[in-house]
Amino acid sequence: DRDYIGFATLPDQVHRKSVKRGFDFTLMVVGESGLGKSTLINSLFLEDLYKTRRIPDVSERIQKTTTIERKTMEIEERGVKLRLTIIDTPGFGDAVNCEDSWRVCINYIDEQFRQYFTDESGLNRRNIQDNRVHCCLYFVPPWGHSLRHMDLELMKRLHHKVNIVVVIAKADTLTTTEVAKLKKNILNDIRENHIQMYEFPECDSDEDEEFKQQDRELKASVPFAVVGSNTTLEIAGKKIRGRQYPWGVVDVENPKHSDFIKLRTMLISTHMQDLKDVTEDVHYENFRAQCISQISQ
Ligand code: GDP
Ligand code: MG
Repeated sequence: DRDYIGFATLPDQVHRKSVKRGFDFTLMVVGESGLGKSTLINSLFLEDLYKTRRIPDVSERIQKTTTIERKTMEIEERGVKLRLTIIDTPGFGDAVNCEDSWRVCINYIDEQFRQYFTDESGLNRRNIQDNRVHCCLYFVPPWGHSLRHMDLELMKRLHHKVNIVVVIAKADTLTTTEVAKLKKNILNDIRENHIQMYEFPECDSDEDEEFKQQDRELKASVPFAVVGSNTTLEIAGKKIRGRQYPWGVVDVENPKHSDFIKLRTMLISTHMQDLKDVTEDVHYENFRAQCISQISQ
């Protein structure tokens, strides 16, 4: 079904009360310049939105990113309202000093927490717009052996503030064996350096077998190897989003070619509410506790 992107399942993930109000969700993309961040975001959300809805305008499409860019779209699917915000960050490598572009990301996250904290203590507590960053897609280049020192350093600055979901960029440049090896090395590095990635919750035992299987496959795919494309190709009369090479076509949505669909399903139809919950209960709670201890000092 190509007419919807899947967040209409959100009410299944949460209480009915929130349905009328609508959902806020903010996704940040982080990683070196040129890794395909903007392209992936277009592939994940915008292309589908262009087909069925007029907002946002094509001219607003994400171009080369030099400062933090915030795009918000309000979309409705089967009566469910979602206010989706994408934070596209300047890749490091664009700035002379990595620290500068890192600070932009970190400050942005803190600033949203601070705003929420202020709103929460204000008079209009019921109608707070939630701009907190609920998920950070961290792009790792496909050409290294694992995480680099700077990836680890940045992750250490981010992991107590935001849900980090690691993705291997441009996975179409790697063989199946290379993908498997890189995934293993990345997971090792993450473990050895005590980086706290977003942890998928345990699957409820009363879920059906199909769902459990899907959940196992999802967890086994981390970190997701992704491919993005802004090009629509016609293959055997079928329109697909893909990348054309002299030797063949990479179909972004083919699960044999990449984990793109797993990532999208996870973000949009199965784990969006959990990402919001962890943001509220863990990351924001950390921030609040810090604020309160500063005030009382
Ligand atoms: P950003 O700087 O991280 O936002 O990267 P862009 O999205 O601007 O992409 C940089 C270049 O990489 C462009 O030429 C894209 O066409 C190309 N690109 C994007 N995604 C992929 C991918 O999944 N695989 C390959 N091979 N190239 C990609
Ligand atoms: Mg970009």
